[in-house]
Amino acid sequence: MSQALALKYRPKRFEDLIGQDSISQTLAMALDQNRLGHAYLFSGLRGSGKTSTARIFSKALLCENGPTSKPCDSCEQCRMANEGRHIDIIEMDAASSRKIDDIRDLIEHTKYKPSVGRYKVFIIDEVHMLTKEAFNALLKTLEEPPEFVKFILATTDPLKLPATILSRTQHFRFKKIAKPLVIKHLEHILNTENIAFEPEALEILARSGSGSLRDTLTLLDQAIVYSKSHVDVATVTQMLGIIDPEFLEKLFDAVLQKDERKIREYLKDLENYEAEMVIDEMSLFLKEKLLQNDPKFSPMLLERFYRILAEAKPLLALNTDGDFVLSLTLFKMVEAMNIKQIDEMIEALEAELRMENGKWKTERAAPIPAPTPSPAAEAKQARAPAPDTQHPTPNNEIRFKKLIEKLYDRNADLGKAFEESIEFVGYEDGVLSWASHAEGENRELLKTHFGIVRHFVQDVFGVGTKIQLVKSDNPPPPKVETAVKNGTPNERSPSSSTDADLSSPESDANGATHTGSMVEDVDCNNAGCVTGNCSEEEPSKEHDAKEILNDPMVKKAQELFGAKKIVIRSKV
Ligand SMILES: [Zn+2]
Repeated sequence: MSQALALKYRPKRFEDLIGQDSISQTLAMALDQNRLGHAYLFSGLRGSGKTSTARIFSKALLCENGPTSKPCDSCEQCRMANEGRHIDIIEMDAASSRKIDDIRDLIEHTKYKPSVGRYKVFIIDEVHMLTKEAFNALLKTLEEPPEFVKFILATTDPLKLPATILSRTQHFRFKKIAKPLVIKHLEHILNTENIAFEPEALEILARSGSGSLRDTLTLLDQAIVYSKSHVDVATVTQMLGIIDPEFLEKLFDAVLQKDERKIREYLKDLENYEAEMVIDEMSLFLKEKLLQNDPKFSPMLLERFYRILAEAKPLLALNTDGDFVLSLTLFKMVEAMNIKQIDEMIEALEAELRMENGKWKTERAAPIPAPTPSPAAEAKQARAPAPDTQHPTPNNEIRFKKLIEKLYDRNADLGKAFEESIEFVGYEDGVLSWASHAEGENRELLKTHFGIVRHFVQDVFGVGTKIQLVKSDNPPPPKVETAVKNGTPNERSPSSSTDADLSSPESDANGATHTGSMVEDVDCNNAGCVTGNCSEEEPSKEHDAKEILNDPMVKKAQELFGAKKIVIRSKV
């Protein structure tokens, strides 16, 4: 390749300009309608097309068929402009000619009519570099130049220009060129040049060019040479000294899995890179994940990771050892994963509280106070992990106690019956083993409510926990002293008194249905788990409650009275 791509593919017409549609349209209209100003200011990022636009605009002003938005490119004026040798297009770089004397020369120039063209066009690049005196000298001419003079000022930093300059020019702000447009342009060039490429490699090049087409094209030039005419991800990342996205994928997988051994391994690989660049690449990687809506990275987790990355930057600025900051950053992310688990636990606890508050008002209103868990037990409960079969708590007895507490909370009689009759044996691999000493009323109660017991077992020990009944030679657990005063257990059990709150979709008939379905779940084997034998007798009384609620007469009454709440009591 003999010519740099940026030069070879420099736009020659307004329609060739990439990513600056509104500017090229406005300028084209001004040319076609002959509504031309005498001074223009083009501001924007370097490589965003300011100089190219200035040159096309100059050519359009001078074309023999012009001024026109479509210069012919064939007349002498156009040809000279395209070859950069038009005597009436005067380009000046204010970065090197910034003194008042340079401006005085320029002003002197404006006094003479154009040699061959219609106008004399002065393009002053990096105009913000002019000295204060130079600006002042320019002001007067800028305000009232001879009618054959046009000024095009270009700057990357318009804020450094005096307000007097800004107010005397038509200001066009050049946007950063959008990445997809840059990529499309790169693809077009490579296809024209007949060079093979990987689309991901162009993505990386466009990213590194940060919206500057010229910079990106320079990188592409390099990449073509470096990759021996096959532009692929491996060579581009190597050339730019950036990290392969696949490596980042693996690195973050290790963080998500809290695999500290692997993280240490990857940190060794990262020692070859500039720490700040690694942190930038990690931020970009996470941004991509957010945009892709990757389920592995919840927005909350991304926010934490971003914060950690942001904290790493000032540490680097303090001239701290880059590798140390990187290690710290990654291990902080692992810590953040733990916080995520705590969040999940809090959520689970809140959901549990919502369920208990919403549904079981009857039991809560029962005269028997639920035993208050000791502060220590409460603390343990708060710290216990969310039910998860993969991470059993070492102390399963505590979980068993929690199960008892939950049953008490739900139904004091049931809790009491359970505590008196069921002996904890062990928990392993998702199987909870217990021995049953249930007799008489306790046995009946446990059998009826086995669905509820099983529900809480799953809640405390994790979904999918199986219950295994084992034999025990131990004596039954001691009787529990409670404040039971009157009535038979039947009266207090929810099977005989269903408090159905119709305003809540969670309860009322649905509540009964829910309970009913749990009880219906009680098959021979399961019931055997609490009672120690098999029986098919005793259809649930809660089932009856459901039937009552579905009775057409009850439905009619409900309709007539607009009942919000239906209480079913057994006749004693
Ligand atoms: Zn022409």
